Amino acid sequence: MYRHLSASTVRHENIHMAQAADCRGWILFYLRYLWYWLRYGYRRNPFEREAYENERNADYLKNSPSQNWRNYMT
Ligand SMILES: [Zn+2]
Repeated sequence: MYRHLSASTVRHENIHMAQAADCRGWILFYLRYLWYWLRYGYRRNPFEREAYENERNADYLKNSPSQNWRNYMT
C-alpha cells in the first residue's frame, strides 16, 4: 500500500497516527488540528511541525515523549 510513498512520507503519516492516539482518537485529533490550523496556519501547525521536522528520523517514534507536538508551538 505504501510502496509508492517515500519512507519519510510514511514516517510523517505515522507521526500523525501517534498524535491521534495521544488525542484519544481521530475526532479529537482533527478538532485540535483544525484549531491549530486556524491559529497557526498549515506549516506552523504544531502537529505538522513535529511531523515535518522528524520524518527523516527513523527512530523518532521509538523515543519521542507523548504529546511532544506541544513543544512545537510558537
Ligand atoms: Zn502532515
